[in-house]
Amino acid sequence: MFLLDWFYGVLASLGLWQKEAKILFLGLDNAGKTTLLHMLKDEEQQGLAYASCETEVKDRRLVQHQPTQYPTSEELSIGQIKFKAFDLGGHQIARRVWKDYYAQVDAVVYLVDAYDKERFAESKKELDALLSDESLGNVPFLILGNKIDIPYAASEDELRHYLGLTGLTTGKGKVNLADSNVRPLEVFMCSIVRKMGYGDGFKWMSQYIK
Ligand code: GDP
Ligand code: MG
Repeated sequence: MFLLDWFYGVLASLGLWQKEAKILFLGLDNAGKTTLLHMLKDEEQQGLAYASCETEVKDRRLVQHQPTQYPTSEELSIGQIKFKAFDLGGHQIARRVWKDYYAQVDAVVYLVDAYDKERFAESKKELDALLSDESLGNVPFLILGNKIDIPYAASEDELRHYLGLTGLTTGKGKVNLADSNVRPLEVFMCSIVRKMGYGDGFKWMSQYIK
């Protein structure tokens, strides 16, 4: 019973208890996607035996044409929730691959290394491409500015500015967008290694997942 409570706690901490969803983790390499998947997996594992849900993390090397760059995809299932991560940036094929994989995704978590200011422009370019991608419709976008444990990492306002999101985010907390044709979009700062910040982001996102 204790462990079942624990399992409940992990999905509940993300706002995803008793929901069914396919969630994409996207972002440049080194943003923290793999670390986040492992964090969620390790949190979940303690409840696994009692909850009888399947969990696996797969590393798949994808066939592509640039011999030195391998777009990676990783997948984690917790109950009815599927997380799948892809590296963007310099991998045209990765974009095709994630598109093939999920005809329909319920949410996108876009990770940015908030310390790596030199790559903000590259990250913005990939984000812009996603935001204008019609196949994603109006699915909610959670932007996670990661690594705020490092001194001089960008602040939330700086990240909004560099990603061109100032004035475009739709507000934290409970925002009723039900009748509008607006894509839920918000920035949350986090430190995945310190387990800080992303829970609030997921909870924000989950209010838009049926
Ligand atoms: P991915 O390419 O997006 O999958 O990124 P990874 O998850 O492999 O992370 C890239 C590097 O960033 C690794 O060395 C991680 O340990 C590190 N990293 C991830 N999250 C954090 C964080 O919150 N703080 C710090 N300081 N480093 C992090
Ligand atoms: Mg990775």
